[in-house]
Amino acid sequence: MPFRATVLTLYPEMFPSLLGHSLAGRALEAGVWELEVINIRDFATDKHRTVDDTPYGGGAGMVLKPDVVGRAIESLDLSTRPCYYLSPRGIPLTQEFLKTHTNPESSAGIILLCGHFEGIDERVLQHYNIPELSIGDYVLSGGEVAAYVVLDSMVRLLPSVMGKQASHEQDSFSAGLLEHPHYTRPAVWQGLEVPAVLLSGNHGAVDAWRLQQAEDLTKRRRPDVWEAYKNRV
Ligand code: SAH
Repeated sequence: MPFRATVLTLYPEMFPSLLGHSLAGRALEAGVWELEVINIRDFATDKHRTVDDTPYGGGAGMVLKPDVVGRAIESLDLSTRPCYYLSPRGIPLTQEFLKTHTNPESSAGIILLCGHFEGIDERVLQHYNIPELSIGDYVLSGGEVAAYVVLDSMVRLLPSVMGKQASHEQDSFSAGLLEHPHYTRPAVWQGLEVPAVLLSGNHGAVDAWRLQQAEDLTKRRRPDVWEAYKNRV
C-alpha cells in the first residue's frame, strides 16, 4: 500500500509543486506515495465562498471558520491516519517523528491541515482532537511551506525511495549526530586536498574518521544534540 498524504489547504494549486520534483516527484510518479489535496474553500456554503471571519475579541487578521474547516475534515476518514494542524505552537518536527510516521508497519500516511491568516478557530482542534506540528520557531504566512517540509522529509524515508538502503541511516540526526563532511573528485581543488584517509581504501579507518568528524562537529555546533547523543549511547 502506498503512503497516503492528504493536505487540506486554501491554495490547492500550490501542490505538488516542489514535491513533484527530484526524489519526492519520482516516488510520486512511481506510486510509492499518493498525494490528495483538499480545497478547504470547497466546503464554504455561501455564494461568496467565505472561509474566514474577524476574530472575536478584536485584533488584526482573519480566522478560518470552524464550520467550513470542520466540513473539510469530515470529508476524510480520520481513523486510519493521524491528522496534524501545522502551527508554530505545535510539537517540534524531528527525525524521530518522521521515522515513526513513515514506518510501513505502523503508518498508512498522514493528514496535514494548513492554516492561513491568523490561523483556525481553536474549537476545530478541540472538537476533532487534532495535535499541532511545528517546523521551527518562526512564523510562516501559511501552512503550505510547512507541508512541503514535512512531506519532503517523510518521503525520502519511505522504503525503496532512496537509492542505497543505508544512505539515510547516516544522515544528520538519524544516528543522533550531525553528519561528517563529504568529498568527491577531483582529489585536489583550489589547492585543497581531500583528507588522505578517504583515499586509503581502509574501510575501518574511514568509518572511524567519519565518526570522529561527526562527533567533533556535533560537540562544536550543537551542544544540545551532543548531550542527547551522549545520554543515549
Ligand atoms: N497567529 C499564529 C500564526 C499564524 S501563521 C500564531 O502566532 O501561532 C499562518 C499559518 O501558517 C498557521 O495557521 C500555520 O498553519 C502556518 N505556520 C506558520 N508558522 C508555522 C510553523 N513554524 N510551523 C508550521 N506551520 C506554521
